[in-house]
Amino acid sequence: MSTRFARVALDHPLDALYDYRYPDGWPEPRPGMLVRVPFGRRESVGLIVEVSAHSEVPANKLRDVIEVCASCPPLSEKWLALVEFAADYYQRGLGEVALPALPQALRDPPRWPRLLAPEERYRLLPAGREALPEALPARAAALRRLAEALVTAGELDLADARALHPKAAATLESWRDAGWVEYECVEFGAAPRASGQIPTVKNTDDADSADLSVGTNGNVDARATNGANGANGAKEPVALHRLSDEQQTAVEAIVESSGFAPFLLHGVTGSGKTEVYLRALAARLEREPEAQALVLVPEINLTPQFEAAFRTRFAGVLPDGAIVTMHSGLAEGERARHWLAAHTGRARIVLGTRLAVMASLPHLAMIVVDEEHDPAYKQQEGLRYSARDLAVWRAKQLAIPVVLGSATPSLESWWQADQGRYTRLTLSRRAMADAVLPTVKLIDLEEERRRGRASFEGLSGPLIAAMKARLERGEQSLIFLNRRGYAPTLACDACGWVAGCPRCSAYVVLHKPERALRCHHCGWESRIPHSCPECGNVDIAPMGRGTQRIEEALASAVPGARVLRIDADSTRRKGSAQALFSDVHAGEVDILVGTQMVAKGHDFQRVSLVGVLNADNALFSHDFRASERLFAQLMQVSGRAGRAGLPGEVLVQTRYPRHAIYHALARHDYVGFANSQVKERRDAHLPPFVYQALLRAEGRTLEAALAFLAEAAAALTAIPAASRVMAYDAVPLTIVKVMNVHRAQLLIESQSRAALQATLHAWQPALRALRGVLRWNLEVDPLDI
Ligand code: ADP
Ligand code: ZN
Ligand code: ZN
Repeated sequence: MSTRFARVALDHPLDALYDYRYPDGWPEPRPGMLVRVPFGRRESVGLIVEVSAHSEVPANKLRDVIEVCASCPPLSEKWLALVEFAADYYQRGLGEVALPALPQALRDPPRWPRLLAPEERYRLLPAGREALPEALPARAAALRRLAEALVTAGELDLADARALHPKAAATLESWRDAGWVEYECVEFGAAPRASGQIPTVKNTDDADSADLSVGTNGNVDARATNGANGANGAKEPVALHRLSDEQQTAVEAIVESSGFAPFLLHGVTGSGKTEVYLRALAARLEREPEAQALVLVPEINLTPQFEAAFRTRFAGVLPDGAIVTMHSGLAEGERARHWLAAHTGRARIVLGTRLAVMASLPHLAMIVVDEEHDPAYKQQEGLRYSARDLAVWRAKQLAIPVVLGSATPSLESWWQADQGRYTRLTLSRRAMADAVLPTVKLIDLEEERRRGRASFEGLSGPLIAAMKARLERGEQSLIFLNRRGYAPTLACDACGWVAGCPRCSAYVVLHKPERALRCHHCGWESRIPHSCPECGNVDIAPMGRGTQRIEEALASAVPGARVLRIDADSTRRKGSAQALFSDVHAGEVDILVGTQMVAKGHDFQRVSLVGVLNADNALFSHDFRASERLFAQLMQVSGRAGRAGLPGEVLVQTRYPRHAIYHALARHDYVGFANSQVKERRDAHLPPFVYQALLRAEGRTLEAALAFLAEAAAALTAIPAASRVMAYDAVPLTIVKVMNVHRAQLLIESQSRAALQATLHAWQPALRALRGVLRWNLEVDPLDI
């Protein structure tokens, strides 16, 4: 047999493939297989991209593949094409994109033989929850970690347990003897249980009528197609809502589509978009017994709510393990297990954050991107990709439907729908009987002041009164303030000193519970000084307000209210966000204060008042996307009010009550707002009417960063495609210095995506040849400029 060569991608910034001899007698080499190879003096894990009978590399330079991962099926050609596209479009190396997209276990050869080994798990029993971790010796740190992980998650993978404690297996066995945990071992690829009925279309109050079925030919009516499983399909269908006409139309459109079918599901908050996703997915999964679906949500905190809704809906229909989550909060072992479940086809629904868009899903048949406008879909480091855009690309590649849902679609998607490239589906009303959109009122802060009306710590009189009324009625209020910490900074009135970060060109934020000044850009921390470090004045005071300060103020402004704060600080500990949100749902909270974390997607049933503080800050940003973002945020947070029958009210405190954004908000007029924004963008030649890319440079000095960018701009003149590209002047970033590194950027844009792409490809080698900065990176379709 003649020698074969594997062309391998490695996690390496150069966009090159490396040739290796593939030993005879091993499993047939195939693109998509993982291999261990020598690289320089070390070893590296790579991905076979091509197999060839020839190599250009001289024989004495060629080395052998050391090991191939034979335990797990190779990644598919479609998946390789996805990472190739992403690498090419976002200007990175193939290996740099492909390998980080895989769970750690796949990049760790010692774990290869057991990738698909049975899953061994320990589940906490009530006796264990009582006893652990108090029963442990105080000094046994590793043991405590193990116990805490178990108590937090309720169960633990043996592999994850071993990572926490070397003797985890023995310990867990002893806990099992004590009756604290139970052991479970599941064959990895265990055959899915026989399927019951997928409750696609039946409405609770009209279970026998067939005219409500989604498809005209009955192909999605559960009873019509489930005959084969009828014998064991004794499961009662889950009680379902009767779909509104608009929901029904949307579901039908999705289910009846064929080939690549992008939908923009524009539904006001609380209009039942989730229900539309569920029905459409159910229909699709039932029609194709192997079909898989990918559902993306913008935030990790939204996964539990979705997971619960999906598990309930598909309980008894899809086997255990058919719904998996994928996000950065999973333990390594879990992440690998979920990824492999998707890769082997065992998982039918993958629910995840942006990183899940890269999951290997061999039978992917439908994609949902919920809250598609959310900036969190954009990765801000490494491969700077848009998960929403990649989702659409994947749908096109596979010729399947993709549903982009939002109450406030991104202008990019809105414009696609305007042009007829995406099919627009509209849900204009709230779904639940009695639920209507909240009334939005503006509180004019200037007028409050002129009339001498009382306010307290930034909370206006009308807002305080409204919260008190809610408290009396046993309803909940939500106060939204997009700024965490106690106060944005600390200042001295006597000399004008303001607490700044020694490493960044930014103020440090006062955190009162932690008694610290903290830089939100680099993490630098110090104790709160007792007096002004410049002049010794002891009367230094916090300037401005953050969530902690509002939390404190609420305790005196609304006596007797149980106040809960949810922001990145209060939810730092793993699993704590979940616990806090449960308290809100359980009615153990009267007033919830929070940042954008509370604004998104949550279905709070008893919130009838939303108060918005300090939104004005965003009105005067130099970023052309600021108003789009502010409007979306305000619509989202307003959408938390009055979802379930209670009439909702939104009070926005502002100094600019006549601003167009607030007017559109008060009328719930996304369409009017979006159309005026589209017009402005068109007139000003801004995205989506041009395509942009950013070159960012980081230097020891600002001069160095700017000089690099000037040379980079000069290099454009040698690139033919760049004649259709315009380069702006290089400018310092708003926060120019972070961690003593100075940052600047150069924006380039073109009317032609192809010309921009060609320019970027030709530009890269020139950029690599330039020196003088610490780092640089390219971002395609940047969101923050
Ligand atoms: P969105 O995602 O559009 O904000 P949700 O999907 O969270 O809205 O739905 C809001 C609420 O309406 C949920 O409590 C949901 O159970 C309920 N709901 C959805 N569809 C219907 C329907 N057809 N009839 C009654 N209630 C519904
Ligand atoms: Zn001073
Ligand atoms: Zn700093």
